[in-house]
Amino acid sequence: MTPIRHAVAASCVFDGVRVHRHAAVVIDGTRVTAIVARAEVPRGLAVHELPDGGWLAPGLIDVQVNGGGDVLFNDAPTAEALRTIAAAHRKLGTTALLPTLITDTEEKLAAALAALDRLGGTEPAVLGLHLEGPFLSPEKPGVHDRLLLRRPSERDAALITAAHPGVVLVTLAPEMVPADFIQRLAGAGVRVALGHSMATYDQTRAAMAQGLTGFTHLFNAMRPLRSREPGPIAAALESPDAFYGLIADGIHVAPAMLRLAMRGAGHPVLVSDAMPPVGGSKKTFKLYGETVELRDGRCLKSGTLAGSCLDLITAVRNCMEMLGAPLTHALQWASTNPAEFLGLGSSLGKLAPGYRADMVALDRDLHVIATWVAGAA
Ligand code: ZN
Repeated sequence: MTPIRHAVAASCVFDGVRVHRHAAVVIDGTRVTAIVARAEVPRGLAVHELPDGGWLAPGLIDVQVNGGGDVLFNDAPTAEALRTIAAAHRKLGTTALLPTLITDTEEKLAAALAALDRLGGTEPAVLGLHLEGPFLSPEKPGVHDRLLLRRPSERDAALITAAHPGVVLVTLAPEMVPADFIQRLAGAGVRVALGHSMATYDQTRAAMAQGLTGFTHLFNAMRPLRSREPGPIAAALESPDAFYGLIADGIHVAPAMLRLAMRGAGHPVLVSDAMPPVGGSKKTFKLYGETVELRDGRCLKSGTLAGSCLDLITAVRNCMEMLGAPLTHALQWASTNPAEFLGLGSSLGKLAPGYRADMVALDRDLHVIATWVAGAA
C-alpha cells in the first residue's frame, strides 16, 4: 500500500520542463503537491529514495498501443484486455495509454467503445481509446485488412461521438470521409489524426482547418514528401499546432527522417505501435487470423511490418542513441507532448502541483525501476 502522503526522492527530478538536482516530489493522494530540495522534505513523511544517479520523470504516455502482455486489443475488445495491456506496459514505464483498435468490423468498433465505457474511468492508466481506421485509404493500408476499410456510417459517427469515459482518438484518411466528418468529430471532443492516407497538402490543410491536429506514425503509410506535392508530411512539419507520432525503433523510420521531424515546427510524440509480445512472453500472435512472427526486432505478417515490438522507454533511449537527442527532450516527446495532444496537458505529462502523480523512476542507465499511477506504486 502506498501511504496517502509520501515523497519520492531522486538525484535528478525532471518535472517536464527542467531538472531539479537532489530533489523530491511530494504526493498527497493522487496528486503532486510540491517539488522540494531533498533536505527540505517535511519531517515524518515517508520517503522512497531512488538509487544514486536515478531519475524521476513524468510517466510515459503512449497514444498508440495495439496490444501488450500477449493480448491484442482487436482479438479481445474487453475491459479485462484493457487492464492487461495497461499492466504490461506499466512495467516498461508507460503509466498512461490509449489502447488501439486497428481497422475492424462495425461490431468490433462498438465492442471496443463498450469496453471503455464498462471500465468507466476505474483504471487511470487507460486514458481512452485510439481507433486507427477503418476510414483509411486502400492505397496505404499497411497491415490493415483492405476488405474492412470503409466510409463512416451514421452509426459509426454516433458511436464515436457519444460520451465516453476518456479520450477518443481517431486516425483517418481525410480523403476517405465526408466533408464535414472531421469537424463533427472534433466538435464532439474527439481527437483526429491523419494516417494511412494519400491526402494531398491542400486536403491535409483543409482537414487541419476542420480540427485535425494529429499525424499517426508520420512518414509511414502516407503520401511521401515530394517536390511538387508536399503532402501531409510538409503540412505537419510546418504547423506549430501539429502533433506527429513517431515510431523510434530504428526500423519504421530512418534516423535522418526522425531528426528532420524533431526540427519541425510542431510537436513530436513518441509512440510504440506495440503488439502483444511487448511485455509478454510469446513470439507469435494472430492478426486477422494470420500468424505474425517476431523476428530481428520486427513483427512481420507475410513480410509486412505489423506494428512493432517497441516499448516507449526503449524509444526514449533510441532517441538519445540514434538521434543524439537530450534525455529531457526525449522524455517530453514521450510524456508532455502526448498529454497536450490529448488535451490533458493541465493534469498529465508534468510533475507540478495539482498534476496527477504519474511518475517513472529510472536507474542511471535509464531502465525502469518503478512507476506510480495516480500516486499509487
Ligand atoms: Zn498504422
